[in-house]
Amino acid sequence: MNQRNNHRLILFPLPFQGHINPMLQLGRILYARGFSITILHTNFNAPDPSSHPHFTFRSIGDSFDRSEATPSDIPGLLLLLNTRCASPFEERLQEMMSSPGSDSVPVTCLISDSLFSFACDVAERLKVRALVLPAGGATSFYVYTILPVLKEKGYFTIDGSQSEEAVTEFPPLLVRDIPAIKLQKPEMALQLFDNMIRVIKSSAGVIFNTFEELEHPALTSVREVLLVPDFVIGPFHKCCMTSSSSSLLAEDRSCISWLDEQPIKSVIYVSFGSAVVLSESEILEIALGLADSEQPFLWVVRPRLVCDPEWLQKSPSHFLEALERRGKTVKWAPQMEVLAHPAVGAFWTHSGWNSTLESISEGVPMLCTPRFSDQGVNARYVSDVWRVGVHLNGGLKREYRKGEELRERASVLKEKASACLRPGGSSYRGLDGLVNHILRFHS
Ligand code: UDP
Repeated sequence: MNQRNNHRLILFPLPFQGHINPMLQLGRILYARGFSITILHTNFNAPDPSSHPHFTFRSIGDSFDRSEATPSDIPGLLLLLNTRCASPFEERLQEMMSSPGSDSVPVTCLISDSLFSFACDVAERLKVRALVLPAGGATSFYVYTILPVLKEKGYFTIDGSQSEEAVTEFPPLLVRDIPAIKLQKPEMALQLFDNMIRVIKSSAGVIFNTFEELEHPALTSVREVLLVPDFVIGPFHKCCMTSSSSSLLAEDRSCISWLDEQPIKSVIYVSFGSAVVLSESEILEIALGLADSEQPFLWVVRPRLVCDPEWLQKSPSHFLEALERRGKTVKWAPQMEVLAHPAVGAFWTHSGWNSTLESISEGVPMLCTPRFSDQGVNARYVSDVWRVGVHLNGGLKREYRKGEELRERASVLKEKASACLRPGGSSYRGLDGLVNHILRFHS
């Protein structure tokens, strides 16, 4: 095992899959650089310590209960989480500062999810240096910083959820792509993003899970706004290659042997991440799209993806025949392994940031059906800027375009995602910068 230094980092992820994954990946990256890692987590959606035997896990001992929040009200859920977690977090951090663990490695710094708005303030009171990790990309982050301007320009007063109108301040974004535009009361979301930006501006630095070659223009704009040291070191999952998973649901590995049986680049992998909920008509539309595609497909149908648990029995025979002949469904897949599998030819995704970056890293072209949050921005960039995917505008149309051009661009971007991590590459240098930055905290 590599040499340990005498620095402990406390990592505090937001308790959702799309936030836990990058934070634990970051933990593995920094562990490999000699740091001791403590994952401070909520009782709610607690990660599984057995998958990360080298980390120490401590709960803040919160009493957060998801059923207290309206499931579809994500800003409300985040605000409630912030309210419930602030005091337990402070107590636990204070305790950890005054009594280091059995190995007595002292705490050097906190790395907190950017949507925990209290964590950096608490750290400052306790004289702990704090870095911040936004779970999304730099482009969507920059869009968050201009939301007040977009609100002032009147974009939030129209019914933006389906609007194809261009956002003239930020091409090629359309109004429907703006985060929070679909919410009935976007003020709460704007407040959350405003807090996030304030927190980062007063932190000791921000870490991005992206790479310069992908998001350089947005990173330049973000730097002008934040004015704190930044470290661009992604794609995280490719710099900490390991079989350990941070999944909250059990991964069904039978899909890997099923993929082994399929022709090269033939399979459409379909997954809408950990939070999207589909209506009956949407699930039907996807089922028919897959049946019509004539391609083998692997579809992640996680519990609660569909409101109606009887959806499969109610599916048209056309789809059931296709499923029997050339399809497979699983409740949760080892997604990174699936995307890296040679049989996978396309990814039908909700365009969550982790999924987008994982697909880009493997050179898999995407079919995008974004739903909320940063997904609209990610999907627009995938289709119009990076041109490694197709945006399925106006709902779930049954279309599957092959497009050699998409594949070529996807493989060029894959190479860039890989090159940035090699010695001398942009993310490699970013990581050196981050490690040195943290080591200077105590000198
Ligand atoms: N994921 C997985 N198995 C699945 C579906 C998703 O491991 O069957 C992982 C995926 O690799 C990604 C994360 O869950 O790292 C989802 O994050 P993302 O940002 O894409 O979407 P979110 O769930 O936050 O909407």
